[in-house]
Amino acid sequence: MQPNLILEDTIYTLEQLQEVDVPQIALAGRSNVGKSSLINALAGRKNLARTSSTPGKTQSINFYRVEPWQYYLVDLPGYGYAKVSKADRQKWAELINKYLISTPGLKALAVLIDSRVPPQQIDIELTSYARQIDLPLIPILTKGDKCKQSERVAKQNEWAKLLGGIKPIISSASTGLGVDKIWHAFSEHAMD
Ligand code: GDP
Repeated sequence: MQPNLILEDTIYTLEQLQEVDVPQIALAGRSNVGKSSLINALAGRKNLARTSSTPGKTQSINFYRVEPWQYYLVDLPGYGYAKVSKADRQKWAELINKYLISTPGLKALAVLIDSRVPPQQIDIELTSYARQIDLPLIPILTKGDKCKQSERVAKQNEWAKLLGGIKPIISSASTGLGVDKIWHAFSEHAMD
């Protein structure tokens, strides 16, 4: 059965952040990595999450309730967009950091990684940070339809090495590749 996603809350500032202990799986990734598209694919809907025509613009955290499982998928603002000001980048870092370290219900961080590019420093930094704070990681390679199978597997192995053996799930919002595996990983961590 495909879970249903219901947008329950959107916050924009540190002050709006509450210490919620409902189980949560957070999703992070560089702007344009395909996060909104993947959320739509996970929900089996076209326009639940906005796909970005202006990458890096939305600095909000969106909380989606996963029905019927009663945990949240938490869509964190995209990072690493070159044209974002230093001040906005700082704001992003503060908001995310606060969310990651002060959310009692946070069970895992899904980091979305573009399968077409070599490992990026900023993604390595985020995954290292998650490991440092003992936050379980669910790495997901996006846009898998854009690469040959052999390239996808090579990228998967490259990341597994960087992540101490955790193999990313290969996905595509266009073909639905990996969607079932992602739901499985999310639910497993959320119910843990
Ligand atoms: P976000 O900024 O991370 O939310 O990224 P979006 O979901 O807005 O996607 C950025 C661009 O990548 C858009 O043009 C999407 O159509 C495209 N895209 C996203 N996912 C996929 C995918 O799985 N396959 C392909 N071919 N393109 C994708």
